[in-house]
Amino acid sequence: TVYLDHNATTRPVPEAVAAMVQALQQCWANPSSTHEPGQDARRLLAQARGRVAAFLGCQAAEVVFTSGATEANHMALLGALKAGTRRRLVLSAVEHPGLLALGLRLGAEGVPVDFIPVDAQGRLDLAAARSLIRDDVALVSVMGANNETGVLMPVAELAALAHAAGAWMHVDATQLAGKAPLSFAASGADLMSVSAHKLGGPKGVGALLVRKGLPLPPLLAGRQERHRRGGTENLPGIAGFAAACKRAAATLAADIARMEALRRRLEEALLAALPGVHVYGRAAERLCNTLCLRFGTLDAEQVLSQLERAGIVASSGAACSAGGTQPSHVLRAMGESPLHAKAGVRLSLGPDTTPEHIAAAIAAATGRLRPLLAQAAAAPQ
Ligand code: PMP
Repeated sequence: TVYLDHNATTRPVPEAVAAMVQALQQCWANPSSTHEPGQDARRLLAQARGRVAAFLGCQAAEVVFTSGATEANHMALLGALKAGTRRRLVLSAVEHPGLLALGLRLGAEGVPVDFIPVDAQGRLDLAAARSLIRDDVALVSVMGANNETGVLMPVAELAALAHAAGAWMHVDATQLAGKAPLSFAASGADLMSVSAHKLGGPKGVGALLVRKGLPLPPLLAGRQERHRRGGTENLPGIAGFAAACKRAAATLAADIARMEALRRRLEEALLAALPGVHVYGRAAERLCNTLCLRFGTLDAEQVLSQLERAGIVASSGAACSAGGTQPSHVLRAMGESPLHAKAGVRLSLGPDTTPEHIAAAIAAATGRLRPLLAQAAAAPQ
């Protein structure tokens, strides 16, 4: 199988698996215990924290380990509302469904929530952001890169706007980590979410980076993580996360160059070979690995099942619900019709994607989709 769904999750790298097994077998004591095995576990936790911090460009004391980006996002939004008297949230219209769902829930509970629109390329509307970010805003929360289109968001500009209004800035950097150079210190953000499983680590672990001195209340009470996240630490997961960060730090520049070249090859080949291919965010700055496109108006599910029969797995941005596939909210926010928004397919590459994988994907897509596109063109509208 050719796996082109790395924005959904990645295969754990061998170093991460080895670090997890070692933590499970040899370092399973509680890091809060004062005896020797507990102190060994505590040292492993500290070492892992240092590696994650080094990779993400922050201080070790700014790392709060969580169960993943979803928890980190909840901690940021709910914490910001609890920290002071300001009530208003400003999010982008294209946030991850988990964060959007939280925003909508808070909205239903009476919290004023505003959404910054995007243009047809998926780029954030900074003029709209400027008018929405006023001095009653508690938190501005925008993703670093969109998970469906890969389009990058203007984090530094937003952080400046947020700070000028006295608000905090949170970045959901889940899709940036491992695919773009990333520094919490340089980003200007006060809070940043990341997830291990998007960069070769295990699922169920991630972090919220919290700028030193920021008075962020905890989501889970307890004394672990400097009283910022209660619960016995997921040491095997954290060790795996740290090992993945260490490896990514060493390979990032080469990974980005390779993924970018392969993505370009895939994109150009599909545009040249098939009629009616539309690439989302083509004029925008995008992640190196993400290709979001539609093949005319062919339904994403149909395209994906054809590709899977040829051994290529990918995904649609669209969220599946009981009643069938919903059009992608990201593509809808970019102004696409419901029909087009249900046609969006996402091919996302990883550091282990090879030229052979890309050749196979090009052959499968051109071979299987050309007749379907011809059929659709011949059908009476
Ligand atoms: N935010 C973004 C932008 C994501 O892409 C994802 C993963 N799909 C998440 C948050 C959720 O991460 P986790 O699985 O660690 O909860």
